Amino acid sequence: MVIHAGAGVVSGRLAAHPRAHFEASLGRILDAGFDILDRGGSSLDAVTVAVRMLEDDPLFNAGRGSGLTRDGTAELDASIMDGRNQKAGAVACVTRVRNPVELARHVMEKTLHVMLVGTGAEQFALEQGMELVPNDYFHTDDRRAELEAVRRGGIAAHAGAPHGTVGAVALDSQGHIAAATSTGGTTNKLPGRVGDSPIIGAGNYAKDGVCGVSATGYGEYFIRAVAAHRIAALVELRGQSLEEAAREVIHETIGSLGGSGGVIAIDAAGRMVLEFNTEGMFRGARDSSGRREVAITR
Ligand code: ASP
Repeated sequence: MVIHAGAGVVSGRLAAHPRAHFEASLGRILDAGFDILDRGGSSLDAVTVAVRMLEDDPLFNAGRGSGLTRDGTAELDASIMDGRNQKAGAVACVTRVRNPVELARHVMEKTLHVMLVGTGAEQFALEQGMELVPNDYFHTDDRRAELEAVRRGGIAAHAGAPHGTVGAVALDSQGHIAAATSTGGTTNKLPGRVGDSPIIGAGNYAKDGVCGVSATGYGEYFIRAVAAHRIAALVELRGQSLEEAAREVIHETIGSLGGSGGVIAIDAAGRMVLEFNTEGMFRGARDSSGRREVAITR
């Protein structure tokens, strides 16, 4: 199992809270997801639970603690993919759904669609009996301060604005791979902007026998590079190792476009890759051989 909680300039976030808080949170969530796999549970359940916990944790930019739009509101995106059958579900621009990853899973399992957005997605959430919350449930002092800093011009360009995402990829004992990704998006984004996280193939992808991928970084670049699917295609069609494929896409494909970010991924043999071209990436990895690590910087 691998998880991430965003890549980028992590020093700002580490200045706001002790590193140990981030590490404890990542470790707790990694272990919760891994326990599901360890007890014979499905990769789909493991990634759903891990991403839901990451959404609920205000330290990270997804669910509570989401980055805010130019207008100071939270607009959330999420997706999930089941590698068994390549079914997928996604939601974008939802403003009142407490756990967007769960809504994405309902879209995958209970509709004929892949993506629902905005008010239609929220209407569907109500029909599923999901909890809706007021938009300010998602707001935190950290994210308000980040938006203020961008507005004051402390961070000039969109490209320098704080951002973040959470994600999880898991391989279960049946050999099935699943991936899930959820985000509040980039700080100061225009209302209505959708990033890569809910776009299947850009910010999230899973295919049994190949790999699962969850991305984080400037979403526009990951969409343009179709990054998550590109990694899977390099593995499946060109026979590259997952590590080579992730490196190529992050450092060459995304890097040459001028983008930054990272990915977490697992291949069919359980090899875990955590690759980024930024100062750091909040991340964790654990497997049945006893490897367990949580890290933020290099
Ligand atoms: N990929 C996310 C987005 O563009 C942000 C991030 O991962 O930092 O919405």
